[in-house]
Amino acid sequence: MKHLEDMKHELMCCTGCGYCKQHCQTLDIGGTETDSGRGRVFLAYGLLTGEITEDQSVVEALQRCPLCGRCEQDCPSTIPISDIIQTARRDLTAVLPAHRKMADDILDKGNPFGEQPVPTARPGEGEIAFFAGCVSTYQTPELKEAALSVLEKLDLEPVMVDEICCGSPLENMGRDNGQPPLLAERLAEAGMQTVLTACPSAVLTLRETPRFTVQHLTAFLAEQNLELVPLDGVLMYHDSSVLGRKLGIYDPPRQLLQQAGGFREFTENRKLALCCGGDLAFQAAFPDMAGEMARQVMDEAREQGAVVVTADPHCYRHLKGHGEVLDIIQVMDRCLQ
Ligand code: SF4
Ligand code: SF4
Repeated sequence: MKHLEDMKHELMCCTGCGYCKQHCQTLDIGGTETDSGRGRVFLAYGLLTGEITEDQSVVEALQRCPLCGRCEQDCPSTIPISDIIQTARRDLTAVLPAHRKMADDILDKGNPFGEQPVPTARPGEGEIAFFAGCVSTYQTPELKEAALSVLEKLDLEPVMVDEICCGSPLENMGRDNGQPPLLAERLAEAGMQTVLTACPSAVLTLRETPRFTVQHLTAFLAEQNLELVPLDGVLMYHDSSVLGRKLGIYDPPRQLLQQAGGFREFTENRKLALCCGGDLAFQAAFPDMAGEMARQVMDEAREQGAVVVTADPHCYRHLKGHGEVLDIIQVMDRCLQ
């Protein structure tokens, strides 16, 4: 349990009060203690002390969590529950079949979907690069097109390198991630100082490489004093768990949507937002639970007659199988002349 040893103090601080169970969607859907934050913290503690041994049920319980961080908002002891779960995964020996395939695909093909790698490099001007990320490159090309179109309308011609996966799914499933240095090398070789991306997971992963500034596209656009033509229709902004709770980016997308004609909030928003279940590793291994989480998000928007707007390609990819959704960059593309 070499990785969990580093979280011994945090584990010991858990009082077992169970407040973290109040708003956990996997507990709501799965119904057993080990579907909750507390249950998973106890499993990690048991693994660390040797009171329990790893078996299939332990592996599944620890992996059946999108690391959304919602439970941490309710914990009076400020236990980093999702970090503990992610760390416990690093000490597991068994790998779920869906995760093995995804990891192999990242390492062999450079993307988590097993697609043949496509060249993405394109020349540009200046020292700004755009990183599309695997979801936009291989599964939702409309998002990459929208982002490049928005940047073009701002007279920016960002450089693109031949992309490989930033390795975020590897980290989430508990594997070592050697991808960021490889990607950073390509970007540094191209002389880049700033990397823009619409993918919050890429911001989280790449910002650990201190060779350049990494900025989420909504934060960049919110600084640009854009003149937007308002969009018709009712929009509801959904906070991605990664963009919101992990990166703390709540206001820039709201500012942009306000400029684009306004939007509605979900009942639970910002730090308290529901998770849509769109984390790639979670969704690949537990599609039924991930689908139910998406439906919980989409049902509220449907009741309001609204289109969901997200600022995370992972959420967009997942939610669009369950209803009407736009990425905020698509909204910006429509509103910018
Ligand atoms: S709310 Fe915090 S202290 Fe209470 S059981 Fe959950 S993790 Fe432990
Ligand atoms: S991170 Fe999310 S799904 Fe996982 S235990 Fe916490 S609230 Fe539940």
